[in-house]
Amino acid sequence: MSATTQPRAAQRSSRTAVRSAQTREHNLALVLRLVHAGGPTSRATIARGTGLTRPAVSDLVAELIDRGHLVETGMEEQNRPGKPGVLVDVNRSGRAVVALDLTAYESLRAAVLDLDGTVVVRLDRPLEQSEAGVDPQVVVDLALEAVAASPAPVLGVGVGSPGIVTSAGVITMAPNLGWTEVHLGAELALATGLPVEVCNDADAAVRAEYALGAGADDLLLIRIGRGLGAGLVVGGQPVRGAHGAAGEIGHVTVGTDGGRLCRCGRRGCLETWVSAPSLETALANPTEGGREAAVTEAGERLGIALAPIVAALDLGEVVIDGPEHLVIDELLLATERAVHDRILSRLPLDLTVRRSVQPGDIVLRGAAALVLGSQLGLV
Ligand SMILES: [Zn+2]
Repeated sequence: MSATTQPRAAQRSSRTAVRSAQTREHNLALVLRLVHAGGPTSRATIARGTGLTRPAVSDLVAELIDRGHLVETGMEEQNRPGKPGVLVDVNRSGRAVVALDLTAYESLRAAVLDLDGTVVVRLDRPLEQSEAGVDPQVVVDLALEAVAASPAPVLGVGVGSPGIVTSAGVITMAPNLGWTEVHLGAELALATGLPVEVCNDADAAVRAEYALGAGADDLLLIRIGRGLGAGLVVGGQPVRGAHGAAGEIGHVTVGTDGGRLCRCGRRGCLETWVSAPSLETALANPTEGGREAAVTEAGERLGIALAPIVAALDLGEVVIDGPEHLVIDELLLATERAVHDRILSRLPLDLTVRRSVQPGDIVLRGAAALVLGSQLGLV
């Protein structure tokens, strides 16, 4: 019977059932988030922290223990009168997430992470450089290998891929892998039988920085690699854009003075100053001012491109992620200066330009954070 032919009372009660199931999932996630952030906690403290009643919290905690997401860890220390409570904690090492990073030059990277986002197993598969690109089956096999290597039951698989990725896990275009319209999410879900989240590598990186690296609620992350990409969080929400391509600023023309020829065929793209190959070239062939001047020019161009974005969204933080020998102080300072010079000054001046936390694993951690978000309502 379709919803339109159901008696009204039945429609109402089925809607109420859906709502109460949603409320319950919401409350389960609320409890889990509080314990994840705070560590071992008693039921009484959870009730105070969430505003839920004690019986409701006991019931939710019981279900989370049944699901294997929470564990009892011991008794509360007695520092006030009354019966000490039993502490519960997130089953941090009793559940795991598999994450894949498809952006490295020479290899595909996989890892198993615990619920704190710490890597506990690593698997790398060297890439054969070929004209034909990467066979998606190699990625599927690597995911299966990682799931098999996990010391704990796996909640899901997260993937950070170069290129443009839809919310349904289709990689519409990833020239570096030789992919167009690859349904990677569906293929991985079929092969592993697990929930799968696929996103662009810069979107994964900004998620890691925001959720696991204590980033600001309004944050832009620049990712310097073979090219340049950006991930954006606004008001605590990741931004993907109308076509899943938010943050694709590598081929924005910066300035009206020409500039070098870009691999896209035009001149003056941001990538021609700010990408790993461009910065390597600048550092290897310093102009009169030396290495500092070479990198300062790149930072200025980056700042020129970022200023209108920072101003339009009133961002609090710009994070620059990339190889450690390229993301040097001079680059950060020149970027910050160029942005500040081009926006209406705010008092206090509260835009920070900084390096990413744990740059080497940022895509793996971000891909894992996506799964923790979708499966547990965490981070
Ligand atoms: Zn270009």
